[in-house]
Amino acid sequence: MAQYIPDTILAQGICDAHDPTGAVVSPIHLATTFLRPPEGYSETGWSYSRYGYPGLEQPEATLKALEGAADCRLFSSGMSAMSAVILAQKPGAHCIFPIDMYHGMRTWLKHCSSHWNIRIDHVDMTDLDQVRAAVIPGTTTIVWAETPSNPHWYLYDLAALSDIAHAAGARLVVDNTVATPLLTRPLAFGADIVVHSATKYLNGHSDVLAGAALTAAKDDFWERVCFNRDYHGGILGQFPAALLMRGMRTLHLRVARASETAMAIAEACSDHPDVEAVFYPGLPTHPGHALATRQMTGGFGGMVSIVVRGGAAAAERVMTRTRIFKPATSLGGVESLIERRGAIEGPDSHIEPGLLRLSVGVEAATDLIYDLKAALA
Ligand code: PLP
Repeated sequence: MAQYIPDTILAQGICDAHDPTGAVVSPIHLATTFLRPPEGYSETGWSYSRYGYPGLEQPEATLKALEGAADCRLFSSGMSAMSAVILAQKPGAHCIFPIDMYHGMRTWLKHCSSHWNIRIDHVDMTDLDQVRAAVIPGTTTIVWAETPSNPHWYLYDLAALSDIAHAAGARLVVDNTVATPLLTRPLAFGADIVVHSATKYLNGHSDVLAGAALTAAKDDFWERVCFNRDYHGGILGQFPAALLMRGMRTLHLRVARASETAMAIAEACSDHPDVEAVFYPGLPTHPGHALATRQMTGGFGGMVSIVVRGGAAAAERVMTRTRIFKPATSLGGVESLIERRGAIEGPDSHIEPGLLRLSVGVEAATDLIYDLKAALA
């Protein structure tokens, strides 16, 4: 399958041609345990579902082909995958993260540094000199990028970051949730590990919590990530795995549509008198636009942020007035969502109080633009 373009890989879903029933959609095997010979492990490799089960093969192989990875593991959530990667390091490790990034991960990292003795530094990752200054050769173990980043959709230069990380003996880990492998393939830019909240675009229907980790090399570090899934019990369950596979089969259509509509919304908001700023990497005015044109292919994604004139109160008023954009957290679903990130992230957040994060779904662009303009008016 790997020789086909992503649209074909996704639509076919690396179909299980060996199913004796001839079903074009794989069955859900609910078994938690599998028959074994008295001497130990069976030839199928299945033993106990906390280590793996047949229904994971198809979604893991599909994602692996899309990212061009050597291996893939699906987890029960994005956080479960990401914490398995961080905890594959030893106490005393040093990691560098961006300032602009997913807030839930940042919250967990604070706990991680105080409870696991893993040192975390946040830098402005759009400024490579800050990354160079923060890296400690021989001590830094991970440089972590999320690109485009929450919620300003800044672009982080993966090729340059992988050079900096590797020169210091560290790994580059990339949270590719927002771009998806359709718009950015971090391993092709030198990244070592890719992680996803598969809850978002990969599943795409706001009905599954899932995560993924992928690797460029099956090395000792990767073995520890796999060990963490097996023994912390972070594996994705059978039903969500089947739903995730179902969702992924239309990923290319959803991402293309959301990217196109997000661009139209960003342009429509750009000259709106009640909008102070628009953050969308497809706009030439966005600070990451030049890099986005090199690092992203096929679109700039479905996430747009706008800063409403008048601050938090004005932004909250807009949220109560939209009819199609629903006020809810999360992103990457077929339905459009709106959220004031400052309200979620609390008083020490670096985010503008009037910033509204828009997750653009697959509704008609004209309806979404009308909805937003009517709410802003
Ligand atoms: N990474 C990004 C960019 C996210 O937006 C999220 C969730 O919002 C996560 C990671 C965490 O994923 P999950 O909620 O599936 O644990």
